[in-house]
Amino acid sequence: MDKNQEFSQLVSEIKNHSCSLRSGCIQAVPGDGSIDSQVMFIGEAPGKSEDEMGRPFVGAAGKLLAEALSQIGWSREDVYITNIVKCRPPGNRDPLPEEVEEHKDFLTREIAIIKPKVIVLLGRHALHWFIPELQISKVRGSAKRLNGQVYLPIYHPAAALYNGGLRETFINDIKKIPVLVKQLETEQASI
Ligand code: URA
Repeated sequence: MDKNQEFSQLVSEIKNHSCSLRSGCIQAVPGDGSIDSQVMFIGEAPGKSEDEMGRPFVGAAGKLLAEALSQIGWSREDVYITNIVKCRPPGNRDPLPEEVEEHKDFLTREIAIIKPKVIVLLGRHALHWFIPELQISKVRGSAKRLNGQVYLPIYHPAAALYNGGLRETFINDIKKIPVLVKQLETEQASI
């Protein structure tokens, strides 16, 4: 199977899976964007708008993410955007550890197919999944390398909407992404 086939297969499995959240939401929300992108964004779980539209980050938080991307000359189609959990938890509550566990394989496969150079972790849930011992407020904006994978933890755009004071920080952290990608390309070229 080539990369496109593998991805289509995964999307179809995500759309048709059953999990403990499925009966309470409209649909499962697979990741979307470019599967050839060097950058993958990982959020928490779909909200109401995402559940209705079947696409990640299409509500208010997604609009701020798109606005921040536009400031570096990118659009959401230039990157890959997904969530830890593919189904909306009732009332937008935090996903439970067992729900995260149920969806684990999907995210692992997305990463294996796309092989992003940089994984941007949006907020504490995404950070917790990969590097549980770190706190988002302490490490946001600084890249971490773990087992060969580079992560950039930043605030979740919803946090920046909720607390206007974090908006500039969020946008400034997004501006670090192209610089980081360039650095990694240069590093690779010199090996
Ligand atoms: N918040 C998330 O974490 N993911 C979405 O898709 C939307 C809002």
